[in-house]
Amino acid sequence: MFDVRAAIFSSPFVFLNPVKKQNRKIVSYLRKMMGRGKYETVIGLEVHVQLLTSSKLFCSDSTKFNAPPNTNVSPVSLAHPGTLPKMNRKAIAYAIKLGLALHCDIERKNYFARKNYFYPDLPKGYQISQHTTPICKNGFVKITTEEGEKDIRLNRIHLEEDAGKSIHDIDKNFTCIDLNRAGVPLLELVTEPDLHSADEAFVFLSEIRKLVRYLEICDGNMEEGSMRCDANISIRPWHQKELGTKVEVKNLNSIRNVKKAIEYEIERLSVQADLNETIIQETRSFDALTGTTFSLRNKEEADDYRYFSDPDLTPFFITEEMLTSVKSSIPALPAELQKKYTNNFLLSDYDANVICDDKSTSDFFESVILHTKNYKAAANWIIGPVKSFCNETNSSVADYPVNGKKIAALIKLIDDGKINFSNTSSKILPVLLQSPEADPLQIATRLNLLQNRDEEELQGWVDAVLVKMPGKVLEYKAGKKGLLGLFNGAVKKMSKGKADMQLANTLLIKKLSE
Ligand code: ADP
Ligand code: MG
Repeated sequence: MFDVRAAIFSSPFVFLNPVKKQNRKIVSYLRKMMGRGKYETVIGLEVHVQLLTSSKLFCSDSTKFNAPPNTNVSPVSLAHPGTLPKMNRKAIAYAIKLGLALHCDIERKNYFARKNYFYPDLPKGYQISQHTTPICKNGFVKITTEEGEKDIRLNRIHLEEDAGKSIHDIDKNFTCIDLNRAGVPLLELVTEPDLHSADEAFVFLSEIRKLVRYLEICDGNMEEGSMRCDANISIRPWHQKELGTKVEVKNLNSIRNVKKAIEYEIERLSVQADLNETIIQETRSFDALTGTTFSLRNKEEADDYRYFSDPDLTPFFITEEMLTSVKSSIPALPAELQKKYTNNFLLSDYDANVICDDKSTSDFFESVILHTKNYKAAANWIIGPVKSFCNETNSSVADYPVNGKKIAALIKLIDDGKINFSNTSSKILPVLLQSPEADPLQIATRLNLLQNRDEEELQGWVDAVLVKMPGKVLEYKAGKKGLLGLFNGAVKKMSKGKADMQLANTLLIKKLSE
């Protein structure tokens, strides 16, 4: 691969022939360097994704969030002597699902390892994790930012169990322990240090969250801790090839906070570097109230977890059948759908993006376009009335009372000129939301909303309007074409809102050109 850094810094003079592709790379690199201050930011993320299995990774205890403390704790979760772990196959299937969606190689022969460390909420004294054989390797995540598309390489995705929770704020003198979470299945995604700004990290995490929700393997709620992120951040002078010393920021409970923490760290590290202070490798915590980070502990040496293969668990082998069956369970993913909507249906990037934001919305869109070819109208209905209803009622598009077929029927009535959009969304839809089984045409008839397409009657209104405004007609004929809106408005008013305005508009133009 062409090394931009080496090309620039090996020689004090760079002669640029703009036709050469390599030189264009140099120019873009120099521009970046100059526009972004003295240091380049380097970020690697570790993301924990809690899997939506109903039972834990190695026993049948429930994984239900917010259950009363220490109620989902069988002897296995409590690590009583003599208990044995038993593998949850669904968790493996979910791991493969995510791995395939992120273009990973799937490891066929998997071992679980014991990661030994002492922690009050880790009753076994070790965590069962994967060490030498992460189930997924070599994948990547495509992100799109202002600078275009970019692949963020994944170092690994591995399965592991969660620890319990230490709660420090309910008792003055004691730390309380809730072991409900002990043993809940997690996937840990580790990226290569390929991210270079807080914005890229923000987009990356939004993509991951969208994807795990599409795959229905995790609810993606960072606030509830079912998706967690640690950010590793370093800076280096632009000419330096080696990575700088990193700091790791923990306790980031929203994507926005990840972004804020990275921005804060970039600034803090840059000031330190400007002052020639040595940056020490440390673990820091983010304080959401102040938007700052503080040091938790220095990390001078690598942790020694004394990993070894768990003797209580046999290695598990992923068969061809299992791979095939998981593959067939993967739904159409947002990136693919987005391409289809923009390329085949000619929707704008914005529309496609909103529709692909979550699976319930794209599922709903698909259910509408099963019954209409007016893709743009389908998108407008969803982005407009459907989404606003869901926002107002704080509900999911999946629970929208009116089904896709009915929405397509409304689109057809509008396209046929029987009713207009504004009446349909403001008067017919509210009735349908109350009684979703009702027939839109009957509602329109009952509410007297059918548009008048009777040409003779329309012509009558057009003539009457123009006779009433001879001055304006002259102005229009003299070139003030904007007056057409005024005439249209008058016709609409005269018809008490019932005129088919498309037809009325045509008749107006015709009459005015006589
Ligand atoms: P550790 O052993 O401290 O956990 P790893 O090598 O496992 O470190 O890397 C953890 C994460 O930190 C990965 O996402 C990796 O890409 C990222 N990372 C490693 N070194 C750096 C660095 N110098 N700057 C930024 N990120 C880094
Ligand atoms: Mg690590």
